[in-house]
Amino acid sequence: MPEGDTIHRTANTLRRAIEGAVVTAFESPLPKLAEPELDGRTIARVHARGKNLLIEFDDGRVLHSHMKMEGSWHVYRPNERWRVGAHRARVTIRTERFVAVCFDAPVVELLTPFELRAYRPLTELGPDLIADDLDDAAILARFRAHDEDPIGVAVMNQSIVAGIGNVYKAEVLFIERVDPFAPVRAIDDATILAIVHRAAELLKKNLTGGKRRTRFMLDPGFEWVYGRSGKPCRACGVTVKMKRQGAQMRSTYYCPACQRGASAPE
Ligand SMILES: [Zn+2]
Repeated sequence: MPEGDTIHRTANTLRRAIEGAVVTAFESPLPKLAEPELDGRTIARVHARGKNLLIEFDDGRVLHSHMKMEGSWHVYRPNERWRVGAHRARVTIRTERFVAVCFDAPVVELLTPFELRAYRPLTELGPDLIADDLDDAAILARFRAHDEDPIGVAVMNQSIVAGIGNVYKAEVLFIERVDPFAPVRAIDDATILAIVHRAAELLKKNLTGGKRRTRFMLDPGFEWVYGRSGKPCRACGVTVKMKRQGAQMRSTYYCPACQRGASAPE
């Protein structure tokens, strides 16, 4: 599952290339997209919601794509060589100046405005930490509805807040010194809001490009704990650990000293 910053970066790239342009050809090997009748339509808006990428046309229809782990959108000039084989293209949107290609995405579908309003993967999303103004009271209510979940699971639940993936989970909980295995009910409101606002800040810092970093110190190291199990904590020197967490068994990196009380069943 990509981090929210990846999807928003992709949306920014696509927006610059094709928003406002007229579709000269829309191609897809998917049967449900065989006759979309989009040629001549203008691309009205490109945006991201959580980990969903949405391309809206001027007739109100929306191409929804979810990248999961394997999907990606590329932008090319019309005569440019693609970096991925054409057989992996799910959708190709051609305009006069650019070609936007969606490779390997497991979910690509065209929704009517009516379908979009009722589409549960979108209506059930929490506030997008990059795109939305954050309503603290509403965010706390969403977390409190999952009081028994470990905080390391709750922050990645896109129906609570949208945008935090596995990297930001580990990093933000470290920065705020929170035990990833503690239940939401054990964490006070101020700390939950600190986690959410820190995540939003870091996601936005990583929109401009370059290698993702969640640590901004003069000494080397772009991450605090993510991917660092067995290595010394950059804050205290104690060995960083990794344990699997949640129904999806996601890796959770943490410092057992800095994130005091951090303990999971062995
Ligand atoms: Zn530490």
